[in-house]
Amino acid sequence: MSIDASRILARCDALAALSEQPDGLTRVFLSPEQRAANTLVLQWMREAGLSASLDAIGNCVGRYEAQAAGAPCLMLGSHLDTVRDAGRYDGMLGVVTAIECVAALSAAGRRLPFAIVVIGFGDEEGVRFGSTLLGSRAVAGTFDTALLDRPGRDGVPLRDALCAFGLDPARVGEAAFAARDVLAYVELHIEQGPVLEAAGLPVGVVTAINGGYRFNVDMTGMAGHAGTVPMALRRDALAAAAECVLAVEQVAAGAPDVVGTVGRIEALPGAMNVIPGRVRFSLDVRAPTDGQRAAALAAMRERFEAIAARRRVSVALEPVWEARTAPCDAALQERLAAAVAAENVAVRRLPSGAGHDGMALIDIAPIGMLFVRCAGGISHNPAEAVDAADVAVGARVLLRFIESFAGGRA
Ligand SMILES: [Zn+2]
Repeated sequence: MSIDASRILARCDALAALSEQPDGLTRVFLSPEQRAANTLVLQWMREAGLSASLDAIGNCVGRYEAQAAGAPCLMLGSHLDTVRDAGRYDGMLGVVTAIECVAALSAAGRRLPFAIVVIGFGDEEGVRFGSTLLGSRAVAGTFDTALLDRPGRDGVPLRDALCAFGLDPARVGEAAFAARDVLAYVELHIEQGPVLEAAGLPVGVVTAINGGYRFNVDMTGMAGHAGTVPMALRRDALAAAAECVLAVEQVAAGAPDVVGTVGRIEALPGAMNVIPGRVRFSLDVRAPTDGQRAAALAAMRERFEAIAARRRVSVALEPVWEARTAPCDAALQERLAAAVAAENVAVRRLPSGAGHDGMALIDIAPIGMLFVRCAGGISHNPAEAVDAADVAVGARVLLRFIESFAGGRA
């Protein structure tokens, strides 16, 4: 069976042309560009031998029937929406590669004991409605109908956007798959990070989609005159926050695979001649297990409190977001690793620092992911790039995995 990597890349290029702006790629949920992308993807699915249609939330869903009709499926896929000014591989590569694998099976007349369902999810990035994974949550049966009345960035509620797209908001529940019908969900995706490039490897097996916390941290000291208050008498909230930022870096660096980031900081009152009395900063902590994540947060809190006590300021953490870790199934990791090894590629396992549709699908099936190296680890950026040879390896690994797959959770 043969994989045509050049066709995969050409299709990513074709999808990249479907954008709301001419000089770049932006394609959000339920937009005219998404409709055009769906038309193309459904056509490719049908050409590959899948029966394909849009589901109740606007995902492209194609089914390649098993040896016996109606058998449970191996679900493959990724997303077709993008961030603003996106790259052309984040999401789309996984959808197009899955279609290519089915095309190879179909051309060879191969039917398997399980069906293959390929899904191009309509929303993963959450750009339009501010809530991620809308497509995959609908498929997992965990779509929150309260979101229907949430206005998008353009002011149009999701309910109205679905209607304008020709979908019925009352029927979103029909997109759901029953857990008994899905043997596993496996996604190929670009790494969006630099690990595989640094290791000199085209692909890697994902161990988990990292869970994360986000907090707003508030430090309160005492504002004062920058000229008159002696150093020993100050309660400088920004100097305290600076120590906290370094503590985040030290705690995360000291724990394997934990990452911690302070991405935003604001000092008040924010004047050149005033000692900062109050500082707010963001804290983002992610780890491949919930235990590691909780331990890292506890260590950060302890450091913050010690710094605050020593500097006579107060500190408070306000939680703003939390996602559980979605561990990749051990048996699926083994099968993916065997497929990688069969391509004479060293098996590298790595966690995913970014979120993916598997975080929703894990509610109905074991999940697995295969990462493909991307240039410089750059993603969510027009400079996103992959090597054709790496794409070919990724597609062959996915096809080997499909052929070796047999259902069942580890
Ligand atoms: Zn993605």
